[in-house]
Amino acid sequence: MSENYQRKESAKALFLLVNDELYHMQKITIIGAGLSGSLLAILLAERGFSVDLYERRPDMRKEKMVAGRSINLALSNRGINALRLIGLEKEMLQLAIPMFGRMIHVVDQPSTSAAYSGRKGEYINSISRGELNMALLNKAESFDRVTIFFNHQCIGVDMAEKNASFATASGDIIVAYEKLIGTDGAGSALRDAFVKYVPEFSFTQHFLEHGYKELNIPPGPNGTFLLEKNYLHIWPRGTFMCIALPNPTADFTVTLFLSKTGQENSFDQLNDETAVTAFFNRYFPEIASRIPDLAEQFFANPVGNLGTVKCAPYHFNDSCILLGDAAHAVVPFYGQGMNCSFEDVVELDHLLDQFKEDWETVFASYTQQRKPNCDAIADLAVDNFYEMRDATANAVFQRKRQLETKLEQTYPDYFSKYSMVTFREDLPYSFAMEQGRKQDALLMQLCENISGVEELDLDWVFREVKKLGGKE
Ligand code: FAD
Repeated sequence: MSENYQRKESAKALFLLVNDELYHMQKITIIGAGLSGSLLAILLAERGFSVDLYERRPDMRKEKMVAGRSINLALSNRGINALRLIGLEKEMLQLAIPMFGRMIHVVDQPSTSAAYSGRKGEYINSISRGELNMALLNKAESFDRVTIFFNHQCIGVDMAEKNASFATASGDIIVAYEKLIGTDGAGSALRDAFVKYVPEFSFTQHFLEHGYKELNIPPGPNGTFLLEKNYLHIWPRGTFMCIALPNPTADFTVTLFLSKTGQENSFDQLNDETAVTAFFNRYFPEIASRIPDLAEQFFANPVGNLGTVKCAPYHFNDSCILLGDAAHAVVPFYGQGMNCSFEDVVELDHLLDQFKEDWETVFASYTQQRKPNCDAIADLAVDNFYEMRDATANAVFQRKRQLETKLEQTYPDYFSKYSMVTFREDLPYSFAMEQGRKQDALLMQLCENISGVEELDLDWVFREVKKLGGKE
């Protein structure tokens, strides 16, 4: 739409006078100005819609972020694809640190690294959640048809009357909507309304017994990185683990994943400084020696929950829809929650291209196309929890990763499950899961009875993989 227009606003809608023709620009109401909500506001504004975005928190560009909510994230192709659409790809990648592979730290053994892909140029990126969200908010606010209401917490939606209630500092307000989109995260208020108003709505929520806590390894002398910079570090310890992602400020954000309760090795047991110090010295000495104020940080930062949310349908008639974590919170072990949420927004945008403003068809097609894929990434993320905490330290698994890397280096059309999920934004998650699981089973079996991957005939292995089929 050309920017050569005159705006005529009414209480609920924006009208554009373009070349003497009056266009009715619908007002779209979005709850949640996190990662997916602010991206969505940009794409809808680019289409000429007027967007009201309601966010429960204060404006993070003006107030310091609260600690404890995944400070940095692994950004990969599906997410980058979305940023490219809004012209923020380069700017965001400049702020990110490439992570070329996993660095595995096993107790009393030298650390080993495993590339994420056998192909050059396939890697993931550590990016600050705050920087990314702020860039999206800035871009959204660059459209004068986007209005962001901070400190507005949605406290209820009446889907029959088509209005939403928000708690604000000056009291509760009620806002009428025509289209309401819930990008309000794992505890979505709009999803709560679906439970009440949509008879066929199904909803499940499963929490892992594990929680997570974030810690910070500060920079070394003269701003040096105290661990290898370009890796995602993993300390697998069987039933628990730590990971660390680098930040541009030369520090690392460490996340401890540990059972919340239990007699041994649980957050419950780590209830004083002596217990925390002893636990880290025993299992994570490399981390303990790099964090001078370990116990202080440990008790200052909260324990977060790790859950999977699944629901269906994602939409209600032509008036409401859920996107991002509001529809499908996933555990963070594939590094895909945000990437998948960004892909949701891109998919909705494509459907608006395809079906114009036939919202009922757009919304129904969205549920139909996204549901199997969001369920797939949710399941893959749980699988990866077990892989990261136990299997990465296992010799058969390590051989399988070496074999996958060799296959990727030798055959341009071989893609491991990880690569299909992470680097192939053209493949649906459901395909990556199905094909990837078949490949994994075969390769694990082949790696079980050998002592090195050079014992295998690579051409033969590749032909066996091809026999598994896998047409999208
Ligand atoms: P959110 O980012 O949660 O945004 C929701 C927004 O809605 C927030 O701003 C919130 O304040 C607002 N809101 C909530 N309720 C209301 C309300 N009632 N009224 C108004 N506003 C409301 N993903 C990756 O791709 N890569 C990773 O490496 C990765 N690592 C992670 C590590 C951890 C420890 C965790 C917990 C998650 C990780 N994720 C990762 C997942 C990622 O954080 C989420 O998938 C992503 O943030 C989802 O975006 P969203 O916009 O849907 O929800």
